[in-house]
Amino acid sequence: MEKIEAKKRIEYLIKILSRYNYNYYVENSPVVTDYEYDTLYHELAELEKEFPEYRRDDSPTLKVGGEPLTGFVSVTHKVPMLSIDNTYSEAELLEFDRRAKKTTESQDIEYVVELKYDGVAVSLIYEDGMFIQGASRGDGWSGDNITENLRTILTLPLVIPYKESLEVRGEIYMRRDTFRRINDERKRNGETLFANPRNATAGSLKLLTPEIVAKRNLQLFVYQGFLKGFDTHWAVLDFLKTLGFPINPHRKLAATIKEVIAYCNEWMEKRSSLPYNTDGMVIKVNSLLLQKKAGATSKSHRWAVAYKFPAQQAETVINDVIVQVGRTGVLTPVAILSSVSLGGSTVSRATLHNFEEIKRLDIKINDRVFIEKGGEIIPQIIKVITEKRGGTERDIPVPEKCPVCHRRQ
Ligand code: NAD
Repeated sequence: MEKIEAKKRIEYLIKILSRYNYNYYVENSPVVTDYEYDTLYHELAELEKEFPEYRRDDSPTLKVGGEPLTGFVSVTHKVPMLSIDNTYSEAELLEFDRRAKKTTESQDIEYVVELKYDGVAVSLIYEDGMFIQGASRGDGWSGDNITENLRTILTLPLVIPYKESLEVRGEIYMRRDTFRRINDERKRNGETLFANPRNATAGSLKLLTPEIVAKRNLQLFVYQGFLKGFDTHWAVLDFLKTLGFPINPHRKLAATIKEVIAYCNEWMEKRSSLPYNTDGMVIKVNSLLLQKKAGATSKSHRWAVAYKFPAQQAETVINDVIVQVGRTGVLTPVAILSSVSLGGSTVSRATLHNFEEIKRLDIKINDRVFIEKGGEIIPQIIKVITEKRGGTERDIPVPEKCPVCHRRQ
């Protein structure tokens, strides 16, 4: 690419990714899929590597997403809460292994492989056995004091049998069944829908009324603890479990990167059996000494990497809506979509269930929408991206007669 072209493209990518970050982290309402975001992000990272003279301090590749919120007191993290680099292929995992061996100067690295819970990171502080402060990640250096909201989470221990100062970190998440219940309620109340459980979790934690947060049935998995006297991350997790913290039972100690890859692939197949969303796996160097040796960049640790699963969500356009007549005469509207690749197959239709659903989701022909393939075979429309409406959208007519027997509805 020509230099002048690269400069322009870098500027464009910084602008658009910063806007997407705002939609995602501040408004909890993404306007592109994670896959699209990550593709643009990687393009920017590659261009910045190739043309370092055009690197900018405000680039999203240098920052942990998220901003402080109004209404909460800001707290500074003792240890920055960094992000995790993403990989999408086995080749990239092999490359991570090669780099980890180089930075730690060790040929024998044991890894801990964990699920990557698709929620919101929090830091929890305990003094004298009591939970005294909980904060969001924010921009990585300081976050919001959300202690009162976190106190409403039933699986978060308020008292632990450990008297020393302790900080643990974990993920707040929402189960899929809770997410559906909350979106159903929001539909009934005419409120905008959350795109996914992660956005619903983030939106809930930002509420200023803990009584409402309590109704959101949020959950916690703890995945890190800052403790003295431990040599490995695995032993820390075991110990935190004995203190009563919810530690996910699905984790593996892997002696080689091949074992890591096999475990990741195993979960890619069976992740839909879990009641909560995982967007990948996190691979961590087990030795805490080697973690220290590997260090971090301004944005992420060098001792950990995420292996992301193929997206379950995609963005597409509704080209038309047809009406299917069931055996019992029930009319079901079906959206005809621009074909899009989703979870390993090509999708060109989504069920709309009934005409009430169309009204509730405010769906029109020509709308851009997010579709999702959860446990169900037929993809569902999760949300209309109203921000992308351009004026060509048309209402979907409700048929007055059955298209087969011509009886009036
Ligand atoms: P991330 O969510 O990809 O990874 C870091 C986070 O993983 C940690 O903060 C932690 O909360 C979480 N995590 C879950 N399980 C964990 C475990 N077992 N151990 C350790 N950490 C665990 O990174 P991020 O910086 O929070 O978000 C960046 C990603 O968000 C992007 O790659 C993109 O996919 C998405 N994003 C999307 C949009 C959009 O518009 N769609 C915008 C911004 C960001």
